[in-house]
Amino acid sequence: MNCYQCGNQLFGMTAVCPRCGAPLRTAASHQASPALGDNLGMRILLPVGRSPWAIAAGYAGLFAVTCFLAPIALLLGGIAIYDLRRHPDRHGWGRAIFGTVMGAIGTLLLVFAIYSAGQTP
Ligand SMILES: [Zn+2]
Repeated sequence: MNCYQCGNQLFGMTAVCPRCGAPLRTAASHQASPALGDNLGMRILLPVGRSPWAIAAGYAGLFAVTCFLAPIALLLGGIAIYDLRRHPDRHGWGRAIFGTVMGAIGTLLLVFAIYSAGQTP
């Protein structure tokens, strides 16, 4: 990414060009909208506009294959879908559904594993 005014090469998320001071349109300046995000901490840590629950559900869904996190992924996926319905401006449906599906599969496997473990003599 280069500065539109002086052509200076820019690294990372800078709001102004360090050489000429031209204001730059970046994701960082876009985040200033106060309408987005309920939690200030989440707003700083995570990309705004995407439901933080969807992100959590997405990661939990990835680890749901270990079964251990599957119920958490299912829970987070459910919260994410609820959160996305409440905030139609937010994104993250893919992650939310992924987390829910992976969580559901993992939970079923976990229940099956516990059940079959109880059946063994
Ligand atoms: Zn510049």
